[in-house]
Amino acid sequence: MSGQEFFQAGERVGVLTTQPLDRLLDYRAPEGGCYLGAYVEVPLGPRKVLGVVWGPGAGGFDSAKLRSVIRVLDVAPMRSEMRQFLGKAADYTLTPMPAMLRLATRAPGLSDPPSMRKILRRGDGVPDRMTEARTRVLEVLEEFGGLAFTPRELADMADVTPSVVKGLVKQGALREEEAPRDTPYPHLDPELPSKQLTDDQANAAAALADAVHSGRYGTTLLKGVTGSGKTEVYLEAVAAALRAGRQALVLLPEIALTAEFLTRVEARFGAKPAEWHSGATLTERRRVWKMAGQGAAQLVIGARSALFLPFRDLGLIIVDEEHDTSYKQEDGVLYNARDMAVLRAAMCSAQVVLASATPSLETWANAEAGKYKRLNLTSRFGASVLPEMRAVDMRSEDLLPATWISPTLKQAMTLRMERGEQSLLFLNRRGFAPVTICRACGAQVACDHCDARMVEHRFMKRLMCHQCGETKPVPEACPSCEVEGKMAPVGPGIERLAEEATALFPEARIAVLSSDLFGSARALKQRIEEIAAGEADIILGTQLVAKGHNFPLLTLVGVIDADLGLQGSDLRAAERTFQLMRQVAGRAGRAERPGEALMQTFQPEHPVIRAILSGDEENFWKAEAAERQAAGVPPYGRMAGIILSGPDLAAVFDLGNAMARNDGPLRQIGAQLFGPAPAPIARVRGRHRVRLLVKAAKGVPLQDAIARWIAPLRLKGDLRLSVDIDPQSFF
Ligand code: ADP
Ligand code: ZN
Repeated sequence: MSGQEFFQAGERVGVLTTQPLDRLLDYRAPEGGCYLGAYVEVPLGPRKVLGVVWGPGAGGFDSAKLRSVIRVLDVAPMRSEMRQFLGKAADYTLTPMPAMLRLATRAPGLSDPPSMRKILRRGDGVPDRMTEARTRVLEVLEEFGGLAFTPRELADMADVTPSVVKGLVKQGALREEEAPRDTPYPHLDPELPSKQLTDDQANAAAALADAVHSGRYGTTLLKGVTGSGKTEVYLEAVAAALRAGRQALVLLPEIALTAEFLTRVEARFGAKPAEWHSGATLTERRRVWKMAGQGAAQLVIGARSALFLPFRDLGLIIVDEEHDTSYKQEDGVLYNARDMAVLRAAMCSAQVVLASATPSLETWANAEAGKYKRLNLTSRFGASVLPEMRAVDMRSEDLLPATWISPTLKQAMTLRMERGEQSLLFLNRRGFAPVTICRACGAQVACDHCDARMVEHRFMKRLMCHQCGETKPVPEACPSCEVEGKMAPVGPGIERLAEEATALFPEARIAVLSSDLFGSARALKQRIEEIAAGEADIILGTQLVAKGHNFPLLTLVGVIDADLGLQGSDLRAAERTFQLMRQVAGRAGRAERPGEALMQTFQPEHPVIRAILSGDEENFWKAEAAERQAAGVPPYGRMAGIILSGPDLAAVFDLGNAMARNDGPLRQIGAQLFGPAPAPIARVRGRHRVRLLVKAAKGVPLQDAIARWIAPLRLKGDLRLSVDIDPQSFF
């Protein structure tokens, strides 16, 4: 990067645009000049596109034909650390820079001129006569001592009609002003009292605060069981950042969690922070983006893409539930927000806190290796203790056909019903039945477009493909042998389990928590609150319930099929099962009542099941780490997945084979190549998918080799190639 910080009008500048081009474009700096990093609008053919001034122009282009930047946008220029971050993230994920810039400018209306709106203040005029309504309006203004409001807000707060407000404006009792639409977020006050922390918590909080005050980069694993107060502790790290005048970012895995979280932030700092997620309105997103850039949003709570906001001075990033798989973006730019948080923090001398009850093996290994610091919260806050965990050996349980609740589990549930406590049954399978089979010929109903079985969803009376969302009615006759009336559901989904629970406990209030049963995040949140308040006896849930919700009356967790996650070829299967089971078990006994977790399994001797039951986490991780080390797989080796797809299977395989033959750049770094082979999901939406897997030692320049390997490829027709560095799942 050149040292030049400002370009005079007419000077050549190189602009990175959001358009899919593989180079910077040269323009002339506009009238008034522009700063390095300025967001600009430039002409491209007949269009105007968004870009950022990335450096001096490259020259070589006929200067007579050079066009001018149209204008500089009214937002703070991109900081050099942000440019570096985008560049490194692009190199790491093998993503073209324009795609990175799109990720960093995902706020609508950035190029709109700064929009203004009308606000009202107290004026000097005296109303000709006072009515009750008019008095209320003036009282509201008095009460908020000098604050200004929009006409709408003012009318609402005074509970009067808009015409009352208009009347007061006419009489000069209210004065109109123009104000920018995007306004700073309310001030957060770190000096408000925090909760009285336990010794354990206070020590951890102090260590994090010290780290923040150092003003240097560092990453800390904050490990503690659910309910141990990790949130309380990291809010103190946020307080430290605010005191230092720096910004903080809290990443959460799920929108449903933010409402409860916002309330806690407000209780601690006296106001709500800025929110960034897909559910936020467009106006709100633009406001967050702009205010983050001006330093007028001290704290942002957001989903993973909040990492790409243009913070002015980011001093702290919290990644809550850092092991959560939703941090890995599986579409478009394939990045892991946890890893990108560490990268970004290193660029801007910030601290990272990775919080989890069940850290990812990557993070655990980094802490073991001393790259990350580690803080432990060992006990749950207050009276709550971790539930007692037991296996229910399904080989010796007596179950009727097509039922899944064992007598042992049923008995434990009955006890909860009698005591007025809640039970939770966990089954990580949406829908009614995962398979619909023909009892005459054994054929299963599959999706027409994907390599996937159709799942019956009884609430919508249809079969659905969980890959592409295609639905169709349950067929009367078998699509394969055409025999009628023989189609039958096989295996349990959460809806079928609900049927069984209703039959066993007809008097119970049963709640089903599955993401597809709720129209909106808000509806889901409301249901969760009702359940927390005791409006259900039995809760049935999919993966959704494993995440951070607080059910004080819950004292029993029954895991219907603890073996579910142990199957499959995923290298992280054991780790995932371990995390999920621990999280689910952590739902029980959060308040004063002790909890119990029962895990139904056909293989109680399985090492993962035994590790979960014994609660010996360190041993589980050590064993898992040793296995991965021996196999040379992440985090002890590197991997990259290459997915090729296209409508014509032969063409896709031809490309894969050609790539395998020309793997010189991979061999140069000693990497191994596997495939081409059909991807685990070999067809999605009518496109065939073929996978290549690259495995390399740690520390070799993997991305560079892959870049050189794929650079000569020319993808014909409808063929697509995507590279997934550090794949999380092997789709
Ligand atoms: P985690 O993030 O580890 O799951 P939380 O921070 O959410 O734990 O704490 C669990 C519950 O205990 C919350 O309701 C929290 O307000 C409460 N809590 C934790 N520590 C304290 C404390 N020192 N004083 C009062 N309440 C606390
Ligand atoms: Zn499908």
